[in-house]
Amino acid sequence: MLCMRCGRDNIDNGSGHCMYCQAKLPSMSLYQVMNSPAMETSRLDEVKRYCDGVLDGSVPIENFADFISATYNHLVSLSSGIYEIVEAENYIQDSPEEIESGYEGMNLWETGLMEIYAYIEDSDEAHIKNGLDMITRGNELVNVAMQINREQRNIEGVSGTL
Ligand SMILES: [Zn+2]
Repeated sequence: MLCMRCGRDNIDNGSGHCMYCQAKLPSMSLYQVMNSPAMETSRLDEVKRYCDGVLDGSVPIENFADFISATYNHLVSLSSGIYEIVEAENYIQDSPEEIESGYEGMNLWETGLMEIYAYIEDSDEAHIKNGLDMITRGNELVNVAMQINREQRNIEGVSGTL
């Protein structure tokens, strides 16, 4: 599991804290919830809800940190899985536009979550605003990539080149 404070990878040692910097790691139960397919559609909305909640005081800062950290870890494992598929299938030559949008979108998601997480350290609300802007743009790019992917599958289906 990746620590959001120091960025290092932890094996699960059962303590719930980073073995390098002692920051709290996301709880496994939340991590497992994040991996359920039902969460995929509204992840951006979910992040927005947690951000609103921490700003108006209805979400405790520990729950906020846990959620952002678990989301980040989920996203990193998701994107490394996608990179493996792309490399294994020589996808890059076939549809560079889709790959570029997808990669840039995932990068914005990851950077945006790190920006949001910085709020925990200094309580500067600008981190949340900037981070939400980044993941909103990232989400649009991921959607563009998925759209191109669908269009290409249709074309291939019609011409029978699949
Ligand atoms: Zn750490």
